[in-house]
Formats: sequence, structure tokens, C-alpha cells
Amino acid sequence: MTDAEGGEMRARLSIVVPCYNEEAVIGATLARLAALADRLARPGAGRPVLETEIICVDDGSADATLALLKAAAAAEPRLRVLALSRNFGHQIAATAGTDAAGGDAVVLIDADLQDPPELIEEMVRRWNDGFDVVYGTRTERPGESAFKLATARGFYRVLNRLSEVAIPLDTGDFRLMSRTVVDALKAMPERRRFLRGMVAWVGHRQAALPYARAERAAGVSKYPLRKMVRFALDGILSFSSKPLQLAIAIGLIAAGVALLGILYALVLRIFTDIWVEGWTALFIAVLFLGGVQLVCLGILGEYVARIYDEAKGRPLYLLRERIGFGDGAGEPRR
Ligand code: UDP
Ligand code: MG
Repeated sequence: MTDAEGGEMRARLSIVVPCYNEEAVIGATLARLAALADRLARPGAGRPVLETEIICVDDGSADATLALLKAAAAAEPRLRVLALSRNFGHQIAATAGTDAAGGDAVVLIDADLQDPPELIEEMVRRWNDGFDVVYGTRTERPGESAFKLATARGFYRVLNRLSEVAIPLDTGDFRLMSRTVVDALKAMPERRRFLRGMVAWVGHRQAALPYARAERAAGVSKYPLRKMVRFALDGILSFSSKPLQLAIAIGLIAAGVALLGILYALVLRIFTDIWVEGWTALFIAVLFLGGVQLVCLGILGEYVARIYDEAKGRPLYLLRERIGFGDGAGEPRR
């Protein structure tokens, strides 16, 4: 933040919006963000006067999202558009946006107006108070299925138990990050990005801002079950090696059960006239051990796949177009 002539503080803010097939809502979102940017450009209590840039990242949308963004950018000088070469997923789209952001602080927000843009002003105030990260914690989530609510609740709690850093509960990616934190994120080359965990890992001073999440303003969720499972796995596997210990534990338990079975069979054989009879017991034991081995191999495989991904060292994303950026910012990184 710099001190302008009038003695008032000035700073630059970047708002990053990942957009995937959001034609139904993107117009309304841009209008809300532009209104917010207008307000932030005027002096306000407890915060600097802000020059805002809005960076919309088109994550390979198949609908009119990119065309709408381009049309809007022609009329709105604060809007910048990054078009990725294909659908890379929400976390990578958000990364591309933060990489390109030039602000002293960067806000990540969804395109569907589930996170109220007006909350950003309060985030800025907390940042002004000295916090490096201000993350929104969801107190209410209307309009989501009971299944999503229950799985999300369970996921954040399991993740928190497993992970080596404390990842805040019920917290999505709606957050403000200072330049220090953004630069730290930029220095983290990992490919399977789980931003809310990475930001927790970065540390510095972090504050929670409770808010009631709204329903999606229009359109449908871009996180079908399959993506949700992938995302959850990325979170757990990127932030914990405990599943590997779990594999050891399952193996030990299986071996223990087998040992008991052996002892039981031996005792019967030596001290009684009854023998443990063949097929069923054998069959069950083989199936059981086979299952245990496959589960453990699968866990191992997930980690190996991640090592393989990192080893290939491909760029995180590729850009097709950059609109509205004055300088060379926003180049993809390796
Ligand atoms: N999104 C994206 N790429 C994807 C999936 C989603 O950029 O492959 C964006 C989407 O446009 C939205 C945000 O990520 O801005 C969150 O997605 P969504 O609202 O569909 O998820 P939900 O809120 O239902 O979990
Ligand atoms: Mg949403």
C-alpha cells in the first residue's frame, strides 16, 4: 500500500474469477463486481482506496462464456480475460488467475455468486488490519443437496485429522490473500493443487470471516460427484501420508487375523479330532488377502501417480488468449 498525496492509502486489488460454462450467470457476476470496484475506488473507513482489476479465467468453457467475457472486456477497462487452452479444472484456473494478478492483494471468488462479492470490502479491512489471508467460512449453505452438505462436512473433518497442517473447516476458496502469500503460492510448483490447503500451509497471519453462502444465482454446479471425489482425494493425498500408514495397519491386521486362524487350526489339529475343513475357509482367506493387497496397492498407486505427474514437469496450464493485460503478466509457468 502506498501513501498518495492527500495522505490517503492506495492499493491495488485483483479479483480472480474462474469461469467454466457460466454463460447463465457471468453477466450478473460482472455487474456485481463492477459495482463493488466502483465502491472500493472511493474512500472508505478502515481500508485503502482501491484500484481494482477483475481477472476472469475461462477454463475451456464449451458455451458462450468466453464470448460474453470478451464483449464485456471491450466495455470495461478493469476486466481482464485469460482463456485456458482447455478445461483444466477449478484449482488450476484459479492458479492461472493468481499468477496473472498484479494486485497488492488477490481475492479468489466463484463465478456463480454463491460467495457475496460485497464481503470483499470487509476482507480488505481485515487485510488493512494486518492479516495476510482472510478466508470465508461457510455458516450456511442453502440450496445444496443433503448429500453434498454431509459429504463436505465429513470431508473437511477427516482432512483436518489427517493433514499435517491445520486446514480450516468448512472453508472454500473464497478468500483474500496478500502479495506475500500469493508470491509464496507462485513458488509452489505442485500440480495437483489443493489451494485451500496450500494457503493454510503458507501460514502468516490468517483470519476467518464467517458468512452465509448463497444459492447459485443461475446455471448448474460444475462439480459433479466424480470431480468432487477427485478433489477430495487430491486434498487428502497432497496433505497427508497417513493413508500409507493406514495401508500398513490394514496389512498388519490382516496378518494378525491370519495368525489367529493358523493357531486355531493347529490347536484343533493337535489337541482334538476335529479338523478345520477345506474349501470355504481357504476361499475366504484368499479373497480377503487379495482384497487387502489390492487396496494397499491402490493407495500406493495414487501416490506413485502423483510422483509421476510431478516428474513429468509439464506446465500447469496453457493459455489460448490474454485480453486486457497491458504487460507481459500472466504467462504460464513451468
Ligand atoms: N469451475 C472451473 N472449472 C471447472 C469447474 C468449475 O473453473 O472445471 C469454476 C466454476 O465456474 C465456478 C467455480 O469453479 O466459478 C466453482 O464451481 P461450482 O460453483 O460449479 O461448484 P460448487 O459451488 O457447486 O461446488
Ligand atoms: Mg458454486
